[in-house]
Amino acid sequence: MSLHGFSLIGSKPGAAGGAVFYGSNPATAEVLEPAFHSAGSQDVDQVAQLAATAFSTYGNLSGAAKGEFLRSIAAGIEERGTEIVTRAGLESGLPEARLRGELGRTTNQLRLFAGVVEEGSWVNARIDPAEPERKPLPRADVRSMLKPLGPVVVFGASNFPLAFSVAGGDTASALAAGNPVIVKAHPAHPGTSELVGQVIRESVQACGLPDGVFSLLFDAHIEVGTQLVVHPLVKAVGFTGSPAAGNALMKLAASRPVPIPCYAEMGSVNPLFILPGAMHTRSAAIATGLQNSFTLGSGQFCTKPGLVFIPEGAEGDSFAESLKAGVAATAPQTMLAANIAGKYAAAVLERSEEDGVRLAAKSAVEVDLATRQPVTLFASNVSSLLGDPNLAEEIFGPTTLLVAYKGREEMLAAAAALEGHLTATIHGTEEDLAAHRDLIAVLESKVGRLLFNGFPTGVEVCHAMVHGGPYPATSDGRSTSVGTQAIFRFARPFCYQDFPDSALPAELRNGNPLGITRMVNGRLTKDAVSYFLSQN
Ligand code: NAP
Repeated sequence: MSLHGFSLIGSKPGAAGGAVFYGSNPATAEVLEPAFHSAGSQDVDQVAQLAATAFSTYGNLSGAAKGEFLRSIAAGIEERGTEIVTRAGLESGLPEARLRGELGRTTNQLRLFAGVVEEGSWVNARIDPAEPERKPLPRADVRSMLKPLGPVVVFGASNFPLAFSVAGGDTASALAAGNPVIVKAHPAHPGTSELVGQVIRESVQACGLPDGVFSLLFDAHIEVGTQLVVHPLVKAVGFTGSPAAGNALMKLAASRPVPIPCYAEMGSVNPLFILPGAMHTRSAAIATGLQNSFTLGSGQFCTKPGLVFIPEGAEGDSFAESLKAGVAATAPQTMLAANIAGKYAAAVLERSEEDGVRLAAKSAVEVDLATRQPVTLFASNVSSLLGDPNLAEEIFGPTTLLVAYKGREEMLAAAAALEGHLTATIHGTEEDLAAHRDLIAVLESKVGRLLFNGFPTGVEVCHAMVHGGPYPATSDGRSTSVGTQAIFRFARPFCYQDFPDSALPAELRNGNPLGITRMVNGRLTKDAVSYFLSQN
């Protein structure tokens, strides 16, 4: 498979003429061929038109056919696995083992969604059959199910060039729900994006699907992304990235003449609380686990624990000392891209100069390249944190902040002051947990996932996972971007009243031809409507 550097306008390559940009290797600063050509406003309109046309067919495709499509993409990515991982390694500086794991996560994710749509019950079919004899008024026949929205725009994320990019979670969930997808490629990994985009295009063709089911646009700047979000034919947006970009896209989506949902995942500081019992019994193990977690992927994970509450006193001090030694002994880390490395360096410098916080440790080895940055550890206490909200801001990269608390009340005050995050973690004994039920209650209102005695990096892709949380972690805490529940973001409930059986979708027909679980008269069942009614 060779790279040509043009957008994929359905099955056709985009034209030259827009601004040109290149991928580059953050580990060596080498510029990577070929040149990538930015799309233009005509391309934006064309992909939106193609997607809208495709929706009339793809939006009504059976679960079996969508499952075949998603499995075909997964197989294609695996077939090209070496080529994709090699290019992703060059463009991101991430090690091969990490990228192999991420490739597996991407294909598993696609197959997990395939399983969901093949089984079919996700549509939440509800049937309240007519009651013509009901007094004083007869009841109409009312049946509802989830339906796809229409063309969805997905922004590839820089920090997961595979699992949160072109064929990542947002694309998989949107396609599974029955929506055509237009991806705006992340400019830090254009070659990886094109390779994966070509695989999806091949699957569109192999499965005999309409051309506009998938398109991929390149842009050196933000124009294409903004034009896509305001295009009248686009019905929803999935985004992972910075708060600045996420908030800008949310505003655009909301200020359109016809507003659309924008699911933006914008990062998080993921507070971690070490309770006294855990500090007393497992201090060394927690310090090692914490360091591994906040430096994993050079700290470029939205689940990185960036705020760590420790008890004041001798045990907290010794925990901090062991972490300081670990940080000093860790080499500087290669960041994903020059702009991300630059933002990290600036944020670390700014934090070092703030009152009430000190740089406690830093990689001892000097940095030899701008894209490599030192691991850093900051230390502060609750009263400084409460007095300076900047200290609770995310710094994207290999750093964390230790915050000493004087006692239970101070820790609770710090928890109560937290904004929305993706996760929170409690390290404790069962006795600690029993004595801190109020902390659990506070954290339940602040995050989407609460962990006990673990670390938040490493998000399992499964049916029960929630990777979301209240604003500002995400635009809408009512949903998740990881796990199969993500399919619900890109669907809406739709109701048929008094339709003849033959005109209903298979999911809602009396005989339940798909054998899915449905709610009939308020009870979950796989039985046909007639059987169910005969039991009443
Ligand atoms: P980003 O700046 O948010 O960019 C993500 C994507 O959105 C890129 O394709 C970018 O295009 C586009 N974009 C940016 N601003 C936009 C705007 N106003 N309108 C339309 N599109 C816009 O993220 P990044 O480049 O990946 O990394 C920068 C920072 O984002 C990091 O330092 C980190 O703080 C944060 N980040 C967070 C997460 C997370 O998990 N929440 C993941 C990755 C990054 P251009 O690149 O062409 O501007």
